[in-house]
Amino acid sequence: MRTMIKQRKKKSTGNPTDLHIRKSSCNRCGICCKKGSPTIHFEDRELIEKGNIPLKYLFTIRQHELSFDNIKEIIEPAKTDIIKIKNKKDSHECIFFDPDHSGCQIYQDRPVECRKLRCWDTKEILSFYDTTRISRKELIFSIDELWDLIQYHQDRCSYQKIAELADQIKQNENNHLVLKKLNNIIQYDSSLRQLIIEKNSMISEMLEFLFGRPLILTISLYGLKQKQSFLYDRCK
Ligand code: SF4
Repeated sequence: MRTMIKQRKKKSTGNPTDLHIRKSSCNRCGICCKKGSPTIHFEDRELIEKGNIPLKYLFTIRQHELSFDNIKEIIEPAKTDIIKIKNKKDSHECIFFDPDHSGCQIYQDRPVECRKLRCWDTKEILSFYDTTRISRKELIFSIDELWDLIQYHQDRCSYQKIAELADQIKQNENNHLVLKKLNNIIQYDSSLRQLIIEKNSMISEMLEFLFGRPLILTISLYGLKQKQSFLYDRCK
């Protein structure tokens, strides 16, 4: 969705035939839903709590995780948790977009970002998109044991720590102690997810919301790649 906002911002300058200028209402082209999913804000809390948007359809970009801000066009560490609706596999398309009807499967319960996005006039969404973002804590703090586990994982698998270790590896790729520390973090993250899946716990569907995306995938954001089982090297 943010890619869409940026594109509309660019297209609005100086071209009188631009779609941005000609449009004055939604014609259900679906482009905004195909370009990326929305972030969840405080205003959406009731939708989540009532189960209108189930947690299994959300994922978390964890605090300090590197993420691309389409508006600023930079990759930077997330200042807070950024909770988003999942995209379809290998696509930027929102999981709730129905291409056959070019519509939203949860239209009546769509998040506030989708309500505010008017591609023909992006002022409101641009001033809103990075405000009132809700965190995992605000959504599940009341579930004691689960929140304790999330906090432990957040601390043990901190992206600040990962960024520091990645920098050290890039400076000296033969630093085995640092490699071992990083591998331990990634192994813990993988083992925790595997354990939850094996227990067939109800929360296994919510792994990417509870613990963010697997480190084994996001480690590439830090310029590292898997060399062999749980050994990492810098991307050449
Ligand atoms: S929630 Fe609905 S309106 Fe919002 S991006 Fe997804 S499909 Fe589109």
